[in-house]
Amino acid sequence: MIERNPEKNWPACLEHNKPLGPLISMATPATARAFCRVESLADLQAALAWANAESLPYMVLGGGSNLLFVDDYPGLVIQPGFSQLALAPGAEGQYQLVGGAGVPWQQVVDFAVARNLWGLENLTRIPGSLGAAPIQNIGAYGVELDQVFDSLTALDVQRGEVVAFSREQCGFGYRQSVFKGDGKGRYIVLEVRLNLSAEPRPVLSYQGLEDLAGESALTPAKVAAQVAALRGQKLPDPAALPNSGSFFHNPLVSHAQADRLRARYPALVSYPQPDGRVKLAAGWLIEQAGFKGFAEQGVGVHRAQALVLVNPGRESGARVLALAVRIQHKVRELFDVELVIEPGVYP
Ligand SMILES: Cc1cc2nc3c(=O)[nH]c(=O)nc-3n(C[C@H](O)[C@H](O)[C@H](O)COP(=O)(O)OP(=O)(O)OC[C@H]3O[C@@H](n4cnc5c(N)ncnc54)[C@H](O)[C@@H]3O)c2cc1C
Repeated sequence: MIERNPEKNWPACLEHNKPLGPLISMATPATARAFCRVESLADLQAALAWANAESLPYMVLGGGSNLLFVDDYPGLVIQPGFSQLALAPGAEGQYQLVGGAGVPWQQVVDFAVARNLWGLENLTRIPGSLGAAPIQNIGAYGVELDQVFDSLTALDVQRGEVVAFSREQCGFGYRQSVFKGDGKGRYIVLEVRLNLSAEPRPVLSYQGLEDLAGESALTPAKVAAQVAALRGQKLPDPAALPNSGSFFHNPLVSHAQADRLRARYPALVSYPQPDGRVKLAAGWLIEQAGFKGFAEQGVGVHRAQALVLVNPGRESGARVLALAVRIQHKVRELFDVELVIEPGVYP
């Protein structure tokens, strides 16, 4: 239902009591008190002014593939629809891709791959929008967004100004950025710039990609096809089985703790990090805790990938969260390791 009432200065895009289930990959039923899909900066500012005038909280929704509503949202949900996508040539075989926050991430990858430009091929098939990609510095198959990231512009809601962020200013880390940290809720990403290369620079270190190293005429399309095939074997399609991808971060522990755990569990799956810490495979910990394939009351853990919580019954976010907390508790009890939930939990 679209409401229009110029007398009350309502933004034209405003909808009331918007069902959110169809907009999020976990398909948890919830309703937003108000919703706006904004197509321009002016729309966005009008929507924020309205929420402010009504004393309502607001939040930003991209493709809905990395968040969980555990209850109805009592304020305004804003979905950036900015859909521009362009390419500018740079120096020495480099290109800069510029895209609006609302462009689907897969469209961005396909755009680069179709032009034989390197940089995004390992990140194919990650659901969501371009604007959300920097929020958790998306990563897969040996590549993270920050490796191709140039800069972004965002609306600073506190100051009401459009501001630019360089790569350094974004504070990227493993599934981390300032937008999830100190700047959480303050910035709405408008446009993102990525650096792509016409010169081949394949990243084939990840298991399942090494065999491509021998190919004479390797293209970004070939790498993307291999990544897509590997992902298809491991991850359930949210359209068929609602999920939000990895539900927990892979925990980082000290070297000493990893050694202690390995003494007790020789099969521990772990990856030493450059900073001296050790990354543990959260999926392995969850499997050892007995949750792989677990199902109860319409929610569960994927039978092939223990890191993925699934919601075949399209049950409430509260029920999904209760299962996640149960898993956290068991893993803490067994391994003394804290699992951090990856999706943003709202309200
Ligand atoms: C099947 C599946 C596989 C996945 N695989 C991967 C993977 O391999 N690697 C990986 O890193 N992630 C993966 N994910 C997680 C998810 O796809 C990414 O985190 C993605 O970037 C989320 O994009 P989105 O548009 O859906 O964001 P949403 O879920 O809509 O939002 C996520 C967060 O970003 C904020 N946000 C969104 N847009 C903006 C904006 N314009 N400005 C400010 N804040 C914003 C939201 O408020 C929210 O806090 C996977 C998810 C699924 C379902």
